Amino acid sequence: MPALLIRDLAQVASPAGTGAPLRGAELRRVDVVEDAYVLCRDGRVAAVGRMAELEPLRDDEVAELDGGGLVALPGLVDCHTHACFAGDRVDEFDLRASGASYEEIHAAGGGILSTVRATRAAGEDALRAALESRRAAMRSHGTTTWEAKSGYGLDRETELAQLRAVAAVGGVATWLGAHAVPPEFADADAYLDFALAEVLPEAAGIADAADVFLERGAFDAAQARRYLSACREAGLVLRLHADQFTEAGGVELAVELGARSVDHLEATGPDGVRALGGSDVTAVLLPIAALVLDRPQPPGRALVDAGAAVALATDLNPGSAFGESLPLACALACTQTGLAPAEALAACTVNAAHVLGRADRVGRLAPGYDADVVLLDAPDWRYVAYHVSGGDVAVVVEGGEVAWRG
Ligand SMILES: [Zn+2]
Repeated sequence: MPALLIRDLAQVASPAGTGAPLRGAELRRVDVVEDAYVLCRDGRVAAVGRMAELEPLRDDEVAELDGGGLVALPGLVDCHTHACFAGDRVDEFDLRASGASYEEIHAAGGGILSTVRATRAAGEDALRAALESRRAAMRSHGTTTWEAKSGYGLDRETELAQLRAVAAVGGVATWLGAHAVPPEFADADAYLDFALAEVLPEAAGIADAADVFLERGAFDAAQARRYLSACREAGLVLRLHADQFTEAGGVELAVELGARSVDHLEATGPDGVRALGGSDVTAVLLPIAALVLDRPQPPGRALVDAGAAVALATDLNPGSAFGESLPLACALACTQTGLAPAEALAACTVNAAHVLGRADRVGRLAPGYDADVVLLDAPDWRYVAYHVSGGDVAVVVEGGEVAWRG
């Protein structure tokens, strides 16, 4: 592979420091180099610096990319998606827009279970094709590292098919075996008996993490504890969907079990914010879902001020957040949850990479990191959050090679 020199960039911007996750004042520190270059070699970033200081290259072969008028950011990291699904929920969107609530739709057998029916019926090849097309859309919005969950199968065959599809398409797979109770089981406990005995052993060989939907109408704290404890025993990292509609003990459980993240937090009050601030659990904000469902936004500013590690993701899913754009999530984080652009950038790069256990390789533009680079057709890196209609992504480089051009 030839080296790749991205030259004459207006700016290179990358979260400062070396560790992960970033918290507090560190979240606001961005290294910005003006009139800059990024040199990629063997799939990694070899150097970042000012054009005036670029030394003659020793490589036999160098491909050049003209960065004139562009800014470079680290490839964005989407640490929370449900991208692996079949069908859509456009009828439900219409219903909700006409006044039905999310919980009413869920209680009527719509919501998650309607996507379960479509996903079970699709077959693994169709599922993988659908995921590939969504992955392409994510890339066009600047996402180079991404996670996707199962949870639309809720039977052995489809849950495993979802996890295999995510791995095959290049994502980080999370087993969301406790997303909803499928209709063939009498109750949540009976379903968990099945899932933990019949699905977990194989799921643990494909997925990095396990996730649970801790919420009224889904799984309660005792059921979530049982599920997560078994998953931890099987070697999986723990994550939770919690405090989306109600505070039901999810933050306390996340802290108690040493979960990697707790995600949503729209309903989290001051005690939960304090608990997260003093913990190693990353708070994952999903502002697109709160926007679409017309819910209060999560307390992003309070979480950062309390010292919490905060990450940002799309929650891409067919029901509450049908969108692949992390720049949109950044815009909402800044305008609706009180984050500064620098904090939003760190939240969907280095801190999101930490949630996925990859912060040593992705999330920064610095020597040694994977050469995943997003080039924005913009004069300033803060356009990633400022330009609310998006569309600034001009080129995406993955592993030191151009993967997409607008
Ligand atoms: Zn989710």
